[in-house]
Amino acid sequence: MCAACGRRLEPLWTADGGRAYRGPCGCRLRPVDANRIERLVGLSIARRRPDLAVAATPRTQAEVIGDAVDQVYVGADADEVLIVWRT
Ligand SMILES: [Zn+2]
Repeated sequence: MCAACGRRLEPLWTADGGRAYRGPCGCRLRPVDANRIERLVGLSIARRRPDLAVAATPRTQAEVIGDAVDQVYVGADADEVLIVWRT
């Protein structure tokens, strides 16, 4: 989600084969790197929900994130993430 306006970011593939998220709203000029965001979210999950992180070993990171996190707001660059946790 875009931290500035709350619209959903769109996933896309970059020219070099990486994944990124792009805002359709124009709040940011460049796509943000998907792996970077997911790594930050993964670290937060490990701190907050170690039960999920441990139990999730055979599952994908995306599934773990889906279980723990409702929405992720991304700020002006990928280092600014605000996590809305599932309760
Ligand atoms: Zn926006």
